[in-house]
Amino acid sequence: MTARRTYLDHNASAPLRAEARAAMLAALDADGNPSSVHAEGRKARALVETAREHVAELVGARPSEVVFTSGATEANAAVFAEKWDTIFMAGIEHASVLAPAAANGGVVHQVATHASGVAAMEDMAGRLLKSGDGGGRVLVTLQLANNETGVIQPVAETAAFARNHGVTMHCDAVQAAGRIAIDFAGLGVDSLSLSSHKIGGPKGAGALIIRDGVTLPVFLPGGGQERRRRGGTENVAAIAGFGAAAEAARRDLQRMASVKVLRDAFERAVLELTPDAFIVGAEAARLANTSCIAWPGKSAETMVIKMDLAGVAISAGSACSSGKVGHSHVLEAMGLMPQITGSAVRVSLGPETTAGDCNAFLDVWRSMSSARGIDHRKFSAAGSGGPLHLSSGVH
Ligand code: PMP
Repeated sequence: MTARRTYLDHNASAPLRAEARAAMLAALDADGNPSSVHAEGRKARALVETAREHVAELVGARPSEVVFTSGATEANAAVFAEKWDTIFMAGIEHASVLAPAAANGGVVHQVATHASGVAAMEDMAGRLLKSGDGGGRVLVTLQLANNETGVIQPVAETAAFARNHGVTMHCDAVQAAGRIAIDFAGLGVDSLSLSSHKIGGPKGAGALIIRDGVTLPVFLPGGGQERRRRGGTENVAAIAGFGAAAEAARRDLQRMASVKVLRDAFERAVLELTPDAFIVGAEAARLANTSCIAWPGKSAETMVIKMDLAGVAISAGSACSSGKVGHSHVLEAMGLMPQITGSAVRVSLGPETTAGDCNAFLDVWRSMSSARGIDHRKFSAAGSGGPLHLSSGVH
C-alpha cells in the first residue's frame, strides 16, 4: 500500500488534467506530419491548430500570435535571440529570463524590487527619462506574477510606458496563466511566455505569444514551422494536451475565488500556530493559490524534507534543478535578510486542493513548531479533531 500523499506544489508543476491526458492519447494515434498535405497530415495539423485556438483564447490573443515551443524556458530564451543594446529587468525574474539576459551582450539595468515583492518599474521610467540609460534597442521584461511569492506585477502600466518610449516589452506569464484572467491585447506587451505544465498540461510544451506585426529573429531555423519562427516538426501530442489544458484552465478561472478563501484560511491557521512566521508578499496583490511562508531561523531545506517524509509535497522557492535548496534570489531581490531568504517555503494550491490537504500540511507544521518548544495548548480550545483544522467544507 502506498502512503497517502498531499500535493501542494502546483507552481512547480500542476497535476496532468484528465482533459489533457485524453487529448494526448488521442493525438498519439495521429500518424501524419502536420506539414504534410495528405489526410493523415491534415489530421495532425488540425490538432495543432485547435490547440493554438485554445491557448490563444486563454490569454486573449489571436491564434496567429501563438508560437509553440518546448516550454517557457525556450519561449523566454527566444526573446533574447534578438541582440538588445539595453535590457531593464528586476531581480525577481525567473532564471530562464535572468540567464539569457545576462548572456545577451546588452547592458542590463537591474530594476529594484520593493519589500512588498512588487518590482519598482517606476525606477526604470526615471532612469530612461532622466539619465538616458536606454540607448539603442531597448527591452524591458517583467513577469506577470512571481513563482515564489505569487505577487502580481504592474505589467500593463509598464507596457504603456514602454509603448510611449519605443521600448519593446516581454512578459513571462507562466504563473499567472489559468490563475488570473489575461488579456494579451489589453496588457499591451509585445510578447508573452506560457508553460503547459503549470496549467495541467504536459511538461515540455509552451508558447511564445508574439503580437502580430512584431518582428523577432527566427529562434530555431529549419523546416519553417510555426510561421518560420520555430522550426522542427511539432510535438503534436504535447501541443494537443497543452491546448486541452488551456481550455480547461480558462473554465476553471472562476474556481480561483474559492481557492483564495481556502488559501487565506490556511495562512491564518499557519500564523496562529507560529506567530513568528510571516507571509512574504502579503501586502501586495497576489495569486490566489500561492503562499510563501517565512519562518525565520528555520531552514527551508529541512522543512521541505520533513514535509516530504510526512507525505506533503511543497517546495522552497529557491530549489533549483539540482534539487538543492539555497537562498531564494527572489527574496534576496526584495531586500529580505539572509535569515529569511533561506527560511521560506512555498505552498501552492490548485483548483482541486481541499481543506484536508491544507490540514495535512498544518499537522506537520504543528509538529515542527512543537519540536521548537512553542506552546500550542492555548489553541486547543478550538475543539475536537485538534486545533486550527480548516473546515472540510472549504475547497
Ligand atoms: N518562468 C516562470 C515564472 C516559471 O515559474 C517557470 C517554471 N518554473 C518557467 C518560466 C520555465 O517554464 P518551463 O518549465 O516550461 O521551462
